[in-house]
Amino acid sequence: MSMFLRFAAAAAGVVIASSAWAQAFPTKPVTIVVPFTAGGPTDLVARGLAQGMAKPLGQSVIVENTAGAGGTIAATRVKNAAPDGYTLLVHHIGMSTAPALYRKLAYNPLTDFEMVAMVVDTPMTLIARSDFPARDVNEFVAYVKANKAKLNLAHAGIGSASHLCGLLFQSTIQTEVTTIPFKGTADALNALLAKQVDFLCDQSTNTTQHINAGTVKAYGVTSKARLPTLPNLPTLDEAGLKGFHVGVWNGVYAPKGTPKAVVDKLVAAIQQSMKEPDFRKRMADLGSTVYAPEQSTPAALAAQLKSEIDRWGPVIRAAGVYAD
Ligand code: ASP
Repeated sequence: MSMFLRFAAAAAGVVIASSAWAQAFPTKPVTIVVPFTAGGPTDLVARGLAQGMAKPLGQSVIVENTAGAGGTIAATRVKNAAPDGYTLLVHHIGMSTAPALYRKLAYNPLTDFEMVAMVVDTPMTLIARSDFPARDVNEFVAYVKANKAKLNLAHAGIGSASHLCGLLFQSTIQTEVTTIPFKGTADALNALLAKQVDFLCDQSTNTTQHINAGTVKAYGVTSKARLPTLPNLPTLDEAGLKGFHVGVWNGVYAPKGTPKAVVDKLVAAIQQSMKEPDFRKRMADLGSTVYAPEQSTPAALAAQLKSEIDRWGPVIRAAGVYAD
């Protein structure tokens, strides 16, 4: 056999072996990496998905929290993982804000990952400690402006959604306050409940129960319309902060080079999980919208990521905020 034929035969063997391997996927548990601490909004989405994916995949799906640096540590971990479908990332809008926020980012969100699926969209709520003096958004803004030197805004790290919302708030009212980074909403919210910080802007999934219980004060929601789950809470736009809209969308990513046959299986399992009535109801009760499963495709995630990078890059660069 000529050298060329031997090489071609070997290459064909590799292709057949790898496609057989992809067909057999998964033969062991799949891990979903969450870039924030357990108990927060991203964790909630990932655990809900993981539960519903286990049956269609025929394997357990484990959630691991790799928190820190606004989600960039987890994204770097998944970028560097083997591209075999066993390590996935559930991230949020931070995937699109990190390129503008981080001078040195270890990954390119658009080119270092395989897009897998879009999952949910959740609005944010502007909340403060329960004894915060202001009664509505106008009083809140006036109080923040008058007391900026002594107020602390909590967030889940540079590049987190709460950080983005906090940046927008500060630039909208043209007032800067001290910001305190945590490794996730669970920690930031605990600090707010303990009155160690003054205010926070975070997803309704984790703030709704505290707003209803009166353990925090709520001033507004970042959606375009009021939430059916919090009908008395005005949108920030209607309350006077014109155009203040942020939706925290979650997507699932795999390392670049994960075979298409494997991605297809993951997409099918995620879509199946998104159909689970329990998951849909739990998310809706907390103010989230679960995407229609058939729209939850790699192409939809790629388009969303690209348009959000284009949307937030200029806003962040104008605010002049960077992390090294
Ligand atoms: N909601 C958080 C954020 O502000 C992160 C988390 O899910 O804990 O990005």
